[in-house]
Amino acid sequence: MQITSNFNISDTDFALRADKIEKRFGNVDVLRGISLEAKRGDVISLIGASGSGKSTFLRCLNFLEVPTAGTVTIRGGAYEASDALSRSRANKNKLRELRREVGMVFQSFNLWPHMTAAENVMEGPVQVLKESPKVARSRALDLLARVGLAERADYRPSQLSGGQQQRVAIARALAMNPDVLLFDEPTSALDPELVGEVLAVMSDLAKEGRTMLIVTHEIGFARDVSSKMLFLRKGLVEEEGPPRSLIESPKSEELHRFLARMRH
Ligand code: ADP
Ligand code: MG
Repeated sequence: MQITSNFNISDTDFALRADKIEKRFGNVDVLRGISLEAKRGDVISLIGASGSGKSTFLRCLNFLEVPTAGTVTIRGGAYEASDALSRSRANKNKLRELRREVGMVFQSFNLWPHMTAAENVMEGPVQVLKESPKVARSRALDLLARVGLAERADYRPSQLSGGQQQRVAIARALAMNPDVLLFDEPTSALDPELVGEVLAVMSDLAKEGRTMLIVTHEIGFARDVSSKMLFLRKGLVEEEGPPRSLIESPKSEELHRFLARMRH
């Protein structure tokens, strides 16, 4: 696919661009052409009703799900479906690079239950980046300290609260030095009293200038941390712009109704 619009990967501000991402499951068009561009340090929030395609879109950005059509471009290059469908070694390496550059934090944490917090954080650096266990552990301890878990490095997930597990998952994502971090409803599985500690860590990352795409139902948080907000509906971007404009003066009836539902 030819990328026609005027952007340049060598632009130092460029982080990630999605170009007309489509995804079809069977005969259902779940994503019908979603585009967005993130500059370095952008925090982009994605909101929308359940089933609107938010998770599928995030998963397409690092090819956990292979888009049916469209292109994802990061600083390392452009990716399209053919890169994932060919099983050549070059293409496998290319996809591995995409997944390293575009990290993901899931709703359900997805930590290894048999490993301690530190071992979970070290796993990618040791297995994928081929770091020595000693260096990887030392970095893991630093990262755990950054998310407020210095004292919990040698605990297993079952010995940690949901909020602590999610902070381990964030440290694990950071350990791969990604250029862009994706968050898929990172606080939806948490008890209400644990949501704040995870949002606080995410706010710190935003302040540090991390490029982040966040699917969330925490509208107040999204308004405060994000530079841009997209409202997805039925696999399309229904409305986008500065978070305050969307939240305070939604243009579409659907966004208006969605926000009214969120307030109850
Ligand atoms: P959201 O995250 O906004 O709730 P999803 O991206 O999870 O939405 O799902 C969008 C639609 O795609 C839903 O109708 C869902 O049932 C469908 N879908 C998601 N993943 C698959 C899959 N692997 N196979 C078939 N349908 C799927
Ligand atoms: Mg989802």
